[in-house]
Amino acid sequence: MTSTAITGIGELTTNDEELGALTDAALVIDGDRIAWVGPASRAPAADEQVDVAGRAVLPGWVDSHTHLVFAGDRTAEFAARMDGKPYQAGGIAVTVRATRAASDAELAANLRKHLAEAAAQGTTYVETKTGYGLTVADELRAARIAAEADEVTFLGAHLVPPGEDADRYVDLVCGEMLDAVAPHVGWCDVFCETGAFDADQSRRVLVAAKERGLGLRVHGNQLAPGPGVQLAVELGAASVDHCTYLTESDVDALAGSDTVATLLPACDMSTRQPLPNARALLDAGATVALASNCNPGSSYTSSMAFCVTTAVLQMRMSIDEAVRAATWGGARALRRESGDGAVGILRVGARADVHVLDAPSAAWLAYRPGVPLTHAVWRRGTRVR
Ligand SMILES: [Zn+2]
Repeated sequence: MTSTAITGIGELTTNDEELGALTDAALVIDGDRIAWVGPASRAPAADEQVDVAGRAVLPGWVDSHTHLVFAGDRTAEFAARMDGKPYQAGGIAVTVRATRAASDAELAANLRKHLAEAAAQGTTYVETKTGYGLTVADELRAARIAAEADEVTFLGAHLVPPGEDADRYVDLVCGEMLDAVAPHVGWCDVFCETGAFDADQSRRVLVAAKERGLGLRVHGNQLAPGPGVQLAVELGAASVDHCTYLTESDVDALAGSDTVATLLPACDMSTRQPLPNARALLDAGATVALASNCNPGSSYTSSMAFCVTTAVLQMRMSIDEAVRAATWGGARALRRESGDGAVGILRVGARADVHVLDAPSAAWLAYRPGVPLTHAVWRRGTRVR
């Protein structure tokens, strides 16, 4: 295995409690792991050396919420929304039709294209979901294709297929569909929202998934206040995503739990919703993650930097809070923030996912909004940009 020393780091964000943030730092990659982190003056020798000339270095972005197994696009729906038409969950059916009609090779190529696009922007760990199949065969196919991402979530409960009875569809999801898909995924998710699945239906899906040993995630409180957050907390979900409409008791429930509040500001902007109240969550002590929710309907961006910039400039998160939420927070939402091969953190034994900014500090992500600042990226120890 080849080792690489990255030296000349002007500002190093580690997300590690003991290491903290370092200036004039270096780190060493050995194989696919971080082998050393510390002051530049004490860096050990390595096979290769890359001097980043004072640039800022972060863990790679951890995008803990995407929907990348899809075909087609929804430009017309987006344009109509910008003309004032409201967003509705039913738009998902358009992508379901296009996805079912696409070949395996087309879906895999589209996924690969978006993963590469994300990696080029510093995203090194990606969760993606099924949910545009909605039949046993199509969900199983999506789960198999999604295996190219780092984490795969089953989202058979994304939408009741048009024309089908909701309760009968939930029976299918909890039974035959989950049996087929469970061996291929680590997580199960449900869209708990008016127009998608109600609290009882969502609970049935999540309980059935838990019984099969899957981790739980919930899409909740996106379009209106609702039961998603409370359900996620009650069932011990790793994350509840969107959190656009929270009551005080939702915030308290999140603050008193291990469930991460994953905020998806690009989605809120693309659907002309208000931005979530990150400040209330952080001030109450909840763990917050930021993710792209990259999908062709409600949030067609893979840019984690855009999410971070928005969180700082419009959601009153500090730069440190936003960067941490888009790295460590995403890892925590996937329960990958600790142990051997941890992501979203730079310390010995962590996965070597390293993002070098063409900037002297992470503050430039918000200070220079919209400017592409990714200079170099290592994913699992391999330089991908
Ligand atoms: Zn989503």
